[in-house]
Amino acid sequence: MTGRTHDLAAFTALNLVVVTTSVPQMTIPTAFVALSANFIGGLVPDIDQQTSMFWKNVRGGGSLAVLVAPLLGGHRFISHSVIGVILFGFLSKLLFNMLGSFIVVDMQIVWIAFMIGYISHLLMDTLTKDGVAWFFPFSWRIGFPPFSFLRVKTGGLIEKILVFPGLVFLNGYLIYSFYPKYLEFLGNLIR
Ligand SMILES: [Zn+2]
Repeated sequence: MTGRTHDLAAFTALNLVVVTTSVPQMTIPTAFVALSANFIGGLVPDIDQQTSMFWKNVRGGGSLAVLVAPLLGGHRFISHSVIGVILFGFLSKLLFNMLGSFIVVDMQIVWIAFMIGYISHLLMDTLTKDGVAWFFPFSWRIGFPPFSFLRVKTGGLIEKILVFPGLVFLNGYLIYSFYPKYLEFLGNLIR
């Protein structure tokens, strides 16, 4: 999937969690940082790809990518696996805790939003032709639906006319159906 679709999928996953769980009270800065972390989480798994949207959004990303991408074993390996979820979950937790010592936001909420984005990325890539080697270091690539001809080509027509608009529609549907929940959430934001 393209970076644009991953961003929207991360947001959609966050939306799904908001409507299906009881969201804790948080401050406006926490909500804002959590939303940003969710977007970043949705792009981070592709740091193993030099041309990814993640690197395009980072200053000097091009040269950093040349160093980092090969370390992760090439596209869709460690960062796209269960081990990757644990590893990046651990590293991001450390990073957020560090940032938390001088930014006054609830880093636990920010971390959860980041991980929701991260996992949504792997789920979306599972829908693509290449699938995802969830059980790295085993190279067995898992995709859904199981037959690759039924899956989506990254940046292809189906992603553009079905997947992306489908996600837009799903968000609209969630907000429409659960608007009291969103009102409650917004009302609970503490200045
Ligand atoms: Zn990916």
